[in-house]
Amino acid sequence: MSPTHRIATSVLIIGTGGSGLRAAIELAERGVDVLVLGKRSKSDPHTALAAGGINAALATMDPRDTWQQHAADTLTESYLLADPRIVRVVTEGAARGIGDLEQYGMPFAREEDGRISQRFFGAHTWRRTAFAGDYTGLEIQRALVNRAAQLQVAILDSVYVTKLLVKDNVVFGAYGFDLQDGSRYIVHADAVILATGGHTRIWRRTSSRRDENTGDSFRLALEAGGRIRDPELVQFHPSGLIEPEDAAGTLVSEAARGEGGILRNALGERFMARYDPERMELSTRDRVALACYTEITEGRGTADGGVLLDVSHLPREVIMRRLPRVYQTLLELQRLDITTTPIEVAPTAHYSMGGVWVRPEDHGTGVEGLYAVGEAASGLHGANRLGGNSLIELLVYGRIVGEAAAAHSAGLTTRQRSSTAEAEAGAEIDQVFGAVGREHLRPLQRALRDLMTEHAGVVRDEAGLRLGLTKLEDIEARSAELGVHPDLAGVQDLAHAFDLRSSTIAARATLEAALERRETRGCHNRSDYPALDQSLQVNLVWCGPGRLTRETIPSIPDDIAALMRDVSTAGKYAE
Ligand SMILES: Cc1cc2nc3c(=O)[nH]c(=O)nc-3n(C[C@H](O)[C@H](O)[C@H](O)COP(=O)(O)OP(=O)(O)OC[C@H]3O[C@@H](n4cnc5c(N)ncnc54)[C@H](O)[C@@H]3O)c2cc1C
Repeated sequence: MSPTHRIATSVLIIGTGGSGLRAAIELAERGVDVLVLGKRSKSDPHTALAAGGINAALATMDPRDTWQQHAADTLTESYLLADPRIVRVVTEGAARGIGDLEQYGMPFAREEDGRISQRFFGAHTWRRTAFAGDYTGLEIQRALVNRAAQLQVAILDSVYVTKLLVKDNVVFGAYGFDLQDGSRYIVHADAVILATGGHTRIWRRTSSRRDENTGDSFRLALEAGGRIRDPELVQFHPSGLIEPEDAAGTLVSEAARGEGGILRNALGERFMARYDPERMELSTRDRVALACYTEITEGRGTADGGVLLDVSHLPREVIMRRLPRVYQTLLELQRLDITTTPIEVAPTAHYSMGGVWVRPEDHGTGVEGLYAVGEAASGLHGANRLGGNSLIELLVYGRIVGEAAAAHSAGLTTRQRSSTAEAEAGAEIDQVFGAVGREHLRPLQRALRDLMTEHAGVVRDEAGLRLGLTKLEDIEARSAELGVHPDLAGVQDLAHAFDLRSSTIAARATLEAALERRETRGCHNRSDYPALDQSLQVNLVWCGPGRLTRETIPSIPDDIAALMRDVSTAGKYAE
């Protein structure tokens, strides 16, 4: 039997991505005792993959830009499903978020006179996306890791959290295990912040890393008594790689089309002419994704189920200068030279716009002491995310949840504990580990991803979603028959078994909400309901299997509403 580590802290943060670290810095700067747990190296979470940039109406390039215009653009792009209060907090607080990063040493690209450079991203009225080359997320993560180290924030980034410890709707810590040696962790805390990312890994093709974004936020929050808002709203990026299988979905940057890349189907047709003859490949992300999807499903795709993205007509030096990462990635993953050969791509699941239900003021979840932040949370993006808004959300709400958790901890007079809750969390791992069932993990994970891709992908309909739910029932039943064993590399199978638990819950939430949203809005395409339905301008809140409620969205303040209009995306990137 492995030893159990018992730790007590004031605030526990789960997740070492940008949102978790920003919250940790806030707490440490306030002198609050904080511990951060993560299931992947702190230098290499999902945040480090972000390429394009981070938004704030700094007006360094376009002096007429304001946070109000940023709010209006965000609400327009959300197809009116974003919470205007959350949008206000992020857009108004964005400049401060950038200032915090500057203080932590973030090397933003600058103009010759020292101003932070800002570039156009899709559907923004003005240039407001700050960046560092095409590795903005990596630099943000480095800056946050360095600042956290200066503050001596305790980080354990090989601990998998399996359960939140809760009694009577009050959270008091979490239970987990070490990914190397299997030893157990019981952490007691006054407040817990979930910064555990989204659920895009439950599709076959995803821009997410392997074994990340497996829907852990959904399961941890739900089992603790939280709720999930708009799980069906998932952004698909048009160009993900098809091969190799274990890297399927890896992004080919939007820059490839921005620089003049051409999309063709297997018949050699430049098919965007059918969908958006004016903007062609520079159309919006959701339209290009839908076009690629339609070509593939109507039988004009390649044998492997893709379309061809071709940059080979561009001068070699342009490719080397403007698309170095794309060139490098294709060489590394496929030994393919993009200066001579087209790239086979297909739509890939990219971003969870829905997530854990949170309050606008402090991102509390309704479970006392439990907060959610970053891609784990919801409310900012509605039915379509404005490129660059995710990174700024991490900075703004990371600070706010840190502040709120500090206040919550300071205000506690008694501390909740429950040995029963701890025993149950331990028993859950015992029951999973060493189970001798006949089912294997990887085939079940694959079956889940296949069903989500087939039945809840870019385009959905009633019959397909219902069939998806039937197949999910089968996977849920087979999951009860899993065999899970220790291996030489540690206890990876145990981690995968919990990933699968989370993913099946995230899949059920997504399928049930997608079924209920009988309309086409933003990223959510229903072939049987092709129009937007005004009566569905609501958030769908999932409280567990078969339990879905509609939540009214507060109205948009008049001064912001007056600024809302469709904005051209021609020539802009939207990562
Ligand atoms: C290729 C790519 C490009 C992007 N480009 C941009 C861009 O240009 N601009 C922009 O705004 N956004 C961009 N995004 C989106 C943005 O990067 C993410 O939404 C954001 O970084 C998420 O940060 P996070 O802190 O919420 O979560 P993450 O960075 O995903 O971190 C989650 C953390 O939680 C941990 N965790 C999860 N479950 C558990 C568990 N059970 N136990 C312990 N730890 C757990 C994980 O290991 C990880 O450390 C991009 C995304 C991708 C994939």
